[in-house]
Amino acid sequence: MAEKQTATPADPAKLVTGVTKPGSDAILNVDEAIGGWKEAVGGVGVPEAQGQSLSYWLQQVRCDELISHRTTEQLPEAADTVIIGSGPSITKRLGPIRAWLCSRPGTFCSGATGRNAGHCKPDQWRGFGKYEKQFGAEQAMKSPTSAKKNVDCDLWVGDTLDVPLDAETAALARDVFDRYRAAGGKVDHVKVTADPAEARRISRLAGAQACYAWPAATLQPRKLVAHVMGVNLAAGVNLQTFTPVRRVSPYDDTKKTKEKESGEKTKNYRWTVHTDRGAIACVDVVHASNAYLPAYEPSLRGLIRPKPHMCNKVIPPLSFAGSGALRNSYGVLLRDGSLFSINPRYGADGVVMVGGSNPGQLKLDEWVAAQPAADQREGTAAARLVTDEVRQFAEAQFDGWRESAEDDGLGPGAGYEYSWSGIIGVAADGVPFVGEMPGPRGRDSGCARATAGTAWRGSLRRRRGWSS
Ligand SMILES: Cc1cc2nc3c(=O)[nH]c(=O)nc-3n(C[C@H](O)[C@H](O)[C@H](O)COP(=O)(O)OP(=O)(O)OC[C@H]3O[C@@H](n4cnc5c(N)ncnc54)[C@H](O)[C@@H]3O)c2cc1C
Repeated sequence: MAEKQTATPADPAKLVTGVTKPGSDAILNVDEAIGGWKEAVGGVGVPEAQGQSLSYWLQQVRCDELISHRTTEQLPEAADTVIIGSGPSITKRLGPIRAWLCSRPGTFCSGATGRNAGHCKPDQWRGFGKYEKQFGAEQAMKSPTSAKKNVDCDLWVGDTLDVPLDAETAALARDVFDRYRAAGGKVDHVKVTADPAEARRISRLAGAQACYAWPAATLQPRKLVAHVMGVNLAAGVNLQTFTPVRRVSPYDDTKKTKEKESGEKTKNYRWTVHTDRGAIACVDVVHASNAYLPAYEPSLRGLIRPKPHMCNKVIPPLSFAGSGALRNSYGVLLRDGSLFSINPRYGADGVVMVGGSNPGQLKLDEWVAAQPAADQREGTAAARLVTDEVRQFAEAQFDGWRESAEDDGLGPGAGYEYSWSGIIGVAADGVPFVGEMPGPRGRDSGCARATAGTAWRGSLRRRRGWSS
């Protein structure tokens, strides 16, 4: 485990790496503030099939038969392509594949995708400072954006707001924005408000110093991925849930020889995927296993790192319901580089999802780093660290939130009733792994590498949602 670093704004060591403005110690990107990818958090492993917390998204689809779908009772002995993982990374390979098998240890889409905060937010300019510093302006301009439409997934499209809450962060955000524009970044669609009073009016955040608004979306991620999987199943894909992959090895040459000798017509299999339910021979393997990839691909250990992340489900007080409901998604930018990411599910059920690398998340990171691995899964106390920060933020910043909560009272079922965790895979260079695996095994494999990381074993276990 690398030396632990803190997110204290005054920590000068941190400022050497952070994206800062001369004369200021404000930081825009939390992963730099806490040491980012340099700090290891956990070990390696596969997601556990039992005992994981259940996200709001997963709670909503308990009747969906995809949860435990197995297209065939037996695992196929062979497939053209084996895809390991069932998150959005799988969407990339629609079309050309004739046989396709997804192996995964737990229920369908219960990785980070089924646990996230539901933002689909093009982050062109805010991340520019970080990527410009690391890769140069030209590469930084290439950060990807996407939005999905025409799928039944509670899609909301509207303005997302990035709102710095102090003057220094506002200055830094402006600096990064201007640099992005100077480097040729498209900003015509971003409405910038530099006047704090106007920013407060737009955002309803008491400490707003500025406001950047541009079109984005939120959605129910599990529904989106289920839709994609439905298309794939109709196209002949074989989905196998509860099938953890333990190892991928080169296809055994002796088998090829025997097949040739016996006159069997063989495909040019190159890989054997070993699972708890048997082995599958295949031509290509697509690794879409995110944080868990290095558990069965040791060459990626240290390059992809697991990190527990939390999301809070908040039922807002009366003045933030009905006509008072929040109508924008948010990235609330704080001085120490942290961020509250807020998805109010406007147009759906008005439940406010709060995630992001917020100050509670930083405390969670410290808690995880300090725990023996065996104790890390009992995370109720750690989850409270995050929820307390969410509550304090909402009460201090959203105009009228605290008063409304006090006047109307937050009864059972309202307030900060539930939170859950997921494991994100943090890549060493901060950008997704996409393309062919390098190295002796990958060079001739045709393996695609997707976002991935070393596995922290399963998500934090929550016994129950807890009320305020
Ligand atoms: C709390 C939280 C909030 C987030 N909020 C947002 C947000 O608002 N917006 C956003 O864009 N991103 C958000 N993210 C990040 C985002 O969810 C992930 O980047 C994305 O879902 C990764 O998708 P994926 O397909 O690469 O991996 P995953 O969704 O993690 O899927 C990996 C799959 O691989 C399977 N698997 C792993 N190992 C094995 C094995 N050995 N054998 C078989 N199967 C295996 C897993 O079971 C899983 O199904 C958030 C993440 C978290 C945890």
